[in-house]
Amino acid sequence: MIKIKTAEELALMRESALIVSKTLGELAKEVKPGVTTLKLDKIAEDCIRDHDAIPGFLGLYDFPNTLCMSPNAQVVHGIPNNKPLEEGDIISIDCGAIKNGFYGDHAYTFEVGEVSQDIKDLLRVTKESLYKGIEQFRMGKRVGDVGYAIQQYAENHGYGVVRELVGHGLGRKMHEDPEMPNYGKRGKGKKFKNGMTVAIEPMINQGTRRIKQLKDGWTILTADGKPSAHFEHDVALIDGEPKLLSTFDYIYEALGISSNEEDPYRF
Ligand code: MG
Ligand code: MG
Repeated sequence: MIKIKTAEELALMRESALIVSKTLGELAKEVKPGVTTLKLDKIAEDCIRDHDAIPGFLGLYDFPNTLCMSPNAQVVHGIPNNKPLEEGDIISIDCGAIKNGFYGDHAYTFEVGEVSQDIKDLLRVTKESLYKGIEQFRMGKRVGDVGYAIQQYAENHGYGVVRELVGHGLGRKMHEDPEMPNYGKRGKGKKFKNGMTVAIEPMINQGTRRIKQLKDGWTILTADGKPSAHFEHDVALIDGEPKLLSTFDYIYEALGISSNEEDPYRF
């Protein structure tokens, strides 16, 4: 069942989302060659707790850490470890936090040092596909419209769209209805209504869309070993339009990037 949020609940969800946004901004300062994903995990946990919030993933379905840390060919759900990141890597960081009983949950794929142009293209197109999806999250549209927009955009660039993992409704639970696949058919699926809140999160592979899972029971990686990118925003439907609960502003501030990509969707 889809849970419609009141204006008060949307304000609380905005608060939860911004804690995650600020945490990703702190991590943006620390992602560089030599740092371990476990060290970044500790920084994130401290940052979340400093905001009187609780790490959203820690213990959820028995996940062992604060962050999902998925380098290079890992798609999502990677577990932090003591292996240092290397120049030219990418690292997808997915972060969740709970405050006032509501979840924030979003993700960003960072470059480690200088990365190759084909990797930069993968990150750019994946992030652009996220906004193609967000643009469709409006009154009168349906779940399939978001998935279709993401899928078409990514596949037109020759990339693989992961099917087995999807976006989702977000609220007092981390995973609420509806499921938000990154593929689909126009005009199909559940209809969007004001007060809906979702996490839209394309997972886009440079090569095949096929994935496999490590024996740790968590880590998802590409079947062909090519890199994968993951960008996620928390979005509310307000007055018929998509409004971002989350922001990448803190990341861009840390990295010295100027961007107006979020301007049409400010909360
Ligand atoms: Mg996430
Ligand atoms: Mg999510």
